[in-house]
Amino acid sequence: MTEAELLARHRAVLPDWLALYYDEPIEIVRAGGRHVTDASGRTYLDFFAGILTNAIGYGVAEISDAVRAQVDTGVLHTSTLYLIRGQVELAERIAELSGIPDAKVFFTNSGTEANETALMLATQYRRSNQVLALRNSYHGRAFGTVAITGNRGWAASSLSPVRVSHVHGGYRYRSPFRHLSDADYVAACVADLRDVLATTTAGDVAAMIVEPIQGVGGFAMPPDGLFGAFEEVLDEHGILLISDEVQTGWGRTGEHFWGISAHGVVPDVMTFAKGLGNGMAIGGVVARSEVMDCLTANSISTFGGNPVATAAARATLDYLLEHDLQGNAAKLGDRLVGGLRDIAADHDVVGDVRGKGLMIGVELVRPGTREPGPGEPSPAAAGVVLEETKARGLLVGKGGLHGNVIRLAPPMTLTAEEADEALDVLAAAVGAAQEEVAPA
Ligand code: PMP
Repeated sequence: MTEAELLARHRAVLPDWLALYYDEPIEIVRAGGRHVTDASGRTYLDFFAGILTNAIGYGVAEISDAVRAQVDTGVLHTSTLYLIRGQVELAERIAELSGIPDAKVFFTNSGTEANETALMLATQYRRSNQVLALRNSYHGRAFGTVAITGNRGWAASSLSPVRVSHVHGGYRYRSPFRHLSDADYVAACVADLRDVLATTTAGDVAAMIVEPIQGVGGFAMPPDGLFGAFEEVLDEHGILLISDEVQTGWGRTGEHFWGISAHGVVPDVMTFAKGLGNGMAIGGVVARSEVMDCLTANSISTFGGNPVATAAARATLDYLLEHDLQGNAAKLGDRLVGGLRDIAADHDVVGDVRGKGLMIGVELVRPGTREPGPGEPSPAAAGVVLEETKARGLLVGKGGLHGNVIRLAPPMTLTAEEADEALDVLAAAVGAAQEEVAPA
């Protein structure tokens, strides 16, 4: 069966709104290191790592061995009603790594479930269903998380179990405060937060949830320190701070193990998923025990923190820490941003290059403006880059409020040679996009 035939069957039986990349979507059937191979035998350098799920790359012996050893016991999973040694050990490590005092951990299967749990904890703890979130945010695709998502293109339902107000701050490039210095930008966002609290809420807000760098929102970010400044306001009202570390955790931002640390603050609650299992489904919530234990009824996750997922996660954590992949992310992130800024200097279709570590966004605009893209009927520049990079053997991500941001997030085991190879491909693809929207 060809990929085209598989696509036809996919379209017939899976929902229309299940997003697929590329004019001709690919099926990945093999992978090793930072490379994946599709069903037709083409190999690609993977600069999206399965939307950051493959933190350390593919076919890593330490991870495969840990998973295989668990599989060989015959116990893929029984139930979280019984003790799971790997879960206890993983929780102990994450509680310590979190920096949250007196922390407890609850495991889920995804980032969505982790954020749903965080919302339930915060709203129960504070006895309020009011939540603050950032404009341009993405937190998942269940009923509560869709409601707090501040990105229209991904907010599949307009109905909501929570009352949410969205504040400025996360997306500086398109913020009304973008012209201000770092300090003034922070002050303006804090003033906006105070205004939103005073004017759109009933005054007993449960929590604020933030992505330190907005993932689906196009790797958009505020100046360091913004969330520390927010925390001072939140503390005045007893509002909990939840950091959604689903994309920014595990050292990917290079400078810190958790994205929120760049803001000089330890949140009350953190949520995580994606890279932890290096491809196995695992997520979770870490919170002060007082918050975690505010639930009085029983709860369970049938599969959350199962023996196979926790074996993969423990091996991934070991690998990340032993090989200082955070340091590698910092070093190669700088190399990529430098190379991309050189490309931007020659192509005014690039409006912004931003990021930290191996989370880098390239925002494409109508040349010479900040307008998000060329719009209809010409194909969007980001679409051109997506197709051109694929044609040259590189997989990248796309995102942003307007779908005009190229997202680069390779496995954190990336090498300098691979970074340079990707830069060459990106230069050609951005050149093609420039040619498409502003022919010389
Ligand atoms: N939070 C963030 C910041 C995310 O990027 C995502 C997934 N893109 C989620 C939550 C939801 O995670 P999942 O898809 O595992 O449910």
